Amino acid sequence: MQQQIHEREQANEGKPPAVAHSEWFFPVRHEPSWFNFTKFIPDAVCWVIPDGDDIEIHNVRVFNPEMRGQGIGTEMIRHIREAFPHHHIWVDTWEHSRPFWEAMVAAGYVDSIENEYNWPCSDTNCTTCHPTRVTGRRRAQ
Ligand SMILES: [Zn+2]
Repeated sequence: MQQQIHEREQANEGKPPAVAHSEWFFPVRHEPSWFNFTKFIPDAVCWVIPDGDDIEIHNVRVFNPEMRGQGIGTEMIRHIREAFPHHHIWVDTWEHSRPFWEAMVAAGYVDSIENEYNWPCSDTNCTTCHPTRVTGRRRAQ
C-alpha cells in the first residue's frame, strides 16, 4: 500500500495540482511551475499558472484567425475548469478580450477578472484597445 502511494506521487511530479486530467498539462520549458494546456493543440493553447488554490490562465491563443469566434477558446477554458473545479481561476485581460472573459465568468468557468483598469494590447490597429488612434500608427503627429 505504501509503495502504491509513493508511485502515484512520482507519476504526478511536475504536474499542476489538477483533480483530474493531468495529461492535458505540460511544464513550460523555462518556467517549470507554469503549464501549457495542450488538449487543443494544434488549434489553440494557453498557459495555466498554479499558485496554491489559485489558477491564472494566461496567453490564450487560437492560432488560425479564421477559427476564432467559433467556441474553441470557450471549450478550452471549460476544460480547465473541469480539471480545477475547486480552484479560484483568474485572468488579466486586454480590452478587446474583456467581453470573452466576462462571458467566462458568467458561465462559471472563471472566477474573476483581476485587472479592472484598461489594458490596451500592443496591436496599434486594434480599435477596441486603441479607440482614439485613427491612423493605426503609434505616434500620429
Ligand atoms: Zn486589442
